[in-house]
Amino acid sequence: MSISGKCLCGSVKYSTAAECLNMGNCHCIDCKKASGSGYAPTMLFPEAAVSITGTVKFYSSPGRSGKLVHRGFCPECGSQLFGKVDRMPGLIAVRAGSLDDLSLYKPTLDLFTCHVSAWDTLDPDIPKFEELPPRP
Ligand SMILES: [Zn+2]
Ligand SMILES: [Zn+2]
Repeated sequence: MSISGKCLCGSVKYSTAAECLNMGNCHCIDCKKASGSGYAPTMLFPEAAVSITGTVKFYSSPGRSGKLVHRGFCPECGSQLFGKVDRMPGLIAVRAGSLDDLSLYKPTLDLFTCHVSAWDTLDPDIPKFEELPPRP
């Protein structure tokens, strides 16, 4: 698959032709805070295969495992675009809401369902993980 995307103001752009390793909706509390939404729709790729142009600012906070999670956003418009986890070196997550073609996002799992918001509705047909799924 080939994807591309950008932030709201267009200062940061990315693209990759790599195979997406998985697509999942993360319902953890930190993703809610960072996105201001019910969950973070996330596409996982090998980091080396994703090319990024523009300046990305990363904010780091400890994840569930105690290892750091780095969330990347455009410093101009604040759009959240990327996630990297020290627990999974070499991988980068792309926030699917930033895709140029939003129809390419087809979530195959829900993670951190222990924190699903009461006002959210989940797809009953995709696998659920109370916390993290196994590394792809
Ligand atoms: Zn921007
Ligand atoms: Zn999360």
